[in-house]
Amino acid sequence: MLKKLLYVLLSIAAALLFFYGFTHAGLDAFVEGIENKTFDLRQSVTAKHRIPSDKIVIITIDDASYEYALDNIGEWPLPRGLYADVVNFVEKQNPKLIAFDMLFVKSAKNNALEDKKLAAVFKKYNNVLTAMNFDYQSEDLRAAQDLPEKLEIKLKNESLDTHFEDNTFLNYRPIVEEIINNTSNIGSVNISRTNDGILRKAPLLVQYHDKFYPQLAFLAGCTALETPINRNLIVDKNSNLLAAGRKIPVDKDGNAILNWYGPRGSYEEVPLYKIIKKMNGEGVELTADFNDKIVFVGMTANSLFDLKTTPTDKLFPGVEVLATYVNNILDNNFVTKAGTLCTILLSVVISLIIGFITLKFVSVSAMVFLTLLTYMGYTIFTFQMMKHFNLWVELVSPLMFATIVFIAMLIVKYLIKSKDFEQQYKLATTDGLTGLYNHRYFQEQMTSALEHAKRYETEFSLIIIDIDYFKKFNDNFGHQCGDRVLRAVAQTLKKNVRATDIVCRYGGEEMSIILPNIGHEDAVFTAQKLCKMVSEQEVRTNTDKTTNVTISLGVSTYPQDAETTQGMIKSADERLYHAKENGRNQVCGD
Ligand code: GH3
Ligand code: MG
Ligand code: MG
Repeated sequence: MLKKLLYVLLSIAAALLFFYGFTHAGLDAFVEGIENKTFDLRQSVTAKHRIPSDKIVIITIDDASYEYALDNIGEWPLPRGLYADVVNFVEKQNPKLIAFDMLFVKSAKNNALEDKKLAAVFKKYNNVLTAMNFDYQSEDLRAAQDLPEKLEIKLKNESLDTHFEDNTFLNYRPIVEEIINNTSNIGSVNISRTNDGILRKAPLLVQYHDKFYPQLAFLAGCTALETPINRNLIVDKNSNLLAAGRKIPVDKDGNAILNWYGPRGSYEEVPLYKIIKKMNGEGVELTADFNDKIVFVGMTANSLFDLKTTPTDKLFPGVEVLATYVNNILDNNFVTKAGTLCTILLSVVISLIIGFITLKFVSVSAMVFLTLLTYMGYTIFTFQMMKHFNLWVELVSPLMFATIVFIAMLIVKYLIKSKDFEQQYKLATTDGLTGLYNHRYFQEQMTSALEHAKRYETEFSLIIIDIDYFKKFNDNFGHQCGDRVLRAVAQTLKKNVRATDIVCRYGGEEMSIILPNIGHEDAVFTAQKLCKMVSEQEVRTNTDKTTNVTISLGVSTYPQDAETTQGMIKSADERLYHAKENGRNQVCGD
């Protein structure tokens, strides 16, 4: 049992070593890529169980609104005063807040009057939010301005892991100055994507000129929970951003992993053109009311290109990403990724289960079936963790780890089995006292030597050996000494024939040698050599004295002496008898 446990532990150690090499070869990025895809799958499945907040409404500039604007207002972009009208219209219903997923940037084409009209609503209502954007533009193009202090978040970062490296920007695209002067409700709309271009995380805060600024949706979420918002925030030791009574887990760059509520179109939407019509007094029914709602205004029209790929949809409007983000803040359910220690522990647990299966079951199909069942069980477990605890437990590396353990265990098991088989085979074919092949093996090899010789029309020879006066030797020196002599003679025979010759204990103190492909003359020569060597070999007696034994040998050869195994044995036996008759310690070959 202890030995078996050792095999399991050794297999796990092998897997660990493999993984160490794997990550150091840079292949961990490949594993991470697959892991991310499994996250998307988990999100797609579990999203069905999350109910989008009915507190969120999106005023969409959809394809229909875009068409309407082209026909009735003019070329894109829309005059900014129109957005001011929309704000005034929505504010009549007392919304919680209105957030524009739009950059009201400065440009030569700006209409100052329109800008003023828009800026005025920011002054009038303190619950209107808008966007700003940071980038890496060189200062050759535009000077990187400092932003007013009122837009900042003062951050106390207690985490050693979070350092905002990827969310640190060099430049800023200026928005209309009057808007900045009129409000502090401006958040960044920078996003972060994984290498494969899919948006799974979003920054909560970004860094610019050594200062921190809130992400627009983060600002909106906090504003919805507490007004005015607290601009002094903490990232705690465990990398959680503490804000508005929420504890949001962030990664090393200050990103939170988003939890999705389904494909695009999960939130209540009102197309902009309907609001314009309503404002113009045309008879349209608005399905949504804005009272106490978090109202986002953003583009969803495919032709306006604000589309992202997310785990649950290939074309997901940016404004819905912001809505999702706010929804996570409201529900307090961002995704937490399980730590490395947890992953290692789970890997070891699955490996132990699989190690147990491979040890316990003999049939490979049963092993494979149960292993796959374990994999399936673990996969379901990871889905359930996502569904019930918003916990991202790694799926790929523990299963890879377990697979390596499985393979290692199979190899170990196969090696043990083949070693067992070898031992059994040796036991079945050899003689315990002399280590020579036994009688049964001798008979088998005689048959195959004969078949071989017949088929290839070659010769083979047989030598049968008997120790002379062995009975008397036993009587004089005892059986134990006799046994020693038997072993010594066996060794001499074995050492002085070719590797292809088969030396057997025929029975008692009789031995035999099968010499494949050897003709009569050579066989007799070999027999004589052996006869001489044994006679010259000194054997120790009990009394520490030495003595000698001699042997008699009979030689027969196929096909000249006989054409059957029995005939060959009989012929060699008869010649052995002649050798004895003629005075022993000699070879008889005819
Ligand atoms: P010879 O062959 O020269 O005619 O005389 P022998 O004394 O050797 O005669 P025989 O072949 O009849 O005797 C065989 C003896 O070998 C009998 C037995 O005491 C001894 N013998 C057989 N097997 C073993 C064994 O495994 N160990 C020991 N110590 N003696 C054995
Ligand atoms: Mg004998
Ligand atoms: Mg004998």
